[in-house]
Amino acid sequence: MAETILQIKGLTKEYGELTALDHLNLEVKAGTIYGILGPNGSGKTTTLGIVLGVLNCTSGSFSWFGNGELDENRKRIGSLLETPNFFPYLSAVRNLRIVAKIKGIENIDEAVETALRKVRLWGRKDSKFKTYSLGMKQRLAIASALMGSPDVLVLDEPTNGLDPQGIAEIRGLIRDIAKDGKTIIIASHQLDEIEKVCTDVIIIKNGVTLKESKIDEILVGNLEVVIEADDMVKAQSIAAGIQGVNNVREKDELLYLEVDENTTAAMINKHFHDNGITLSKLGKYKKSLEEQFLELTEGEGEV
Ligand code: ADP
Ligand code: MG
Repeated sequence: MAETILQIKGLTKEYGELTALDHLNLEVKAGTIYGILGPNGSGKTTTLGIVLGVLNCTSGSFSWFGNGELDENRKRIGSLLETPNFFPYLSAVRNLRIVAKIKGIENIDEAVETALRKVRLWGRKDSKFKTYSLGMKQRLAIASALMGSPDVLVLDEPTNGLDPQGIAEIRGLIRDIAKDGKTIIIASHQLDEIEKVCTDVIIIKNGVTLKESKIDEILVGNLEVVIEADDMVKAQSIAAGIQGVNNVREKDELLYLEVDENTTAAMINKHFHDNGITLSKLGKYKKSLEEQFLELTEGEGEV
């Protein structure tokens, strides 16, 4: 059983009339890349702000590393809530030396070098911060969060505002840091980000949990067989009666049959054939996380 890094129980945050978080529960295990996914305004930053001690919650609780309080574990937690203010006219090295001093790190030279090498800025270590691209600034911010070698890294929307190359670099970096054995918690409104880097995900909207799952398990139960036939009306009525087909939906003139794991495309094909329908198309289809995300988060015309 992996160690629990962060546990949140019944976390609720009210801003006046607005309930930003409504009894949120989640558990982050050691070694995972845990994504908090939700549209803007869903309560991601509020959640991270509370567990990092920047905000107070209205009710509920959270604990770090088992039953620990935040204060006794701060050194084990590196975080990046918003782009930190580095000194524009100082180099990366000098900026990180200041961070190291504030954090009370002992071997400053070594810590700065390790962090800059990790984020691949060692070659630009003496350049002034203001000469850095946005992507480099963000990498320096991650280097800053890594100072002191924390066990867990908390990142809020780490690729916001970056160009595609900068985004790819940060995502690669996150995976790389995870390989070093660190647990990573990422809040993002970008589904492909979560899908590409995370091992686990919680989807929230309006402060309410819609789903929490392993990334690869979120697709279980959503295996579909996609078909096309000359007579789609007849095909649809037959499809609904096939054993092992749990749901039938039509999209873009194709039928998507949600099937049990034991039901194969060949069985579906035979069934249609036996009923006098020839399929002009037959394939397997896994509902993407994107489709599930949209299904989960749409409705009521809210953000
Ligand atoms: P996210 O990070 O998912 O975009 P936030 O946690 O920033 O969402 O915000 C959640 C909700 O709380 C939003 O409706 C937002 O407008 C509201 N909110 C956030 N901070 C404050 C605040 N200081 N005062 C009032 N409402 C706030
Ligand atoms: Mg936010």
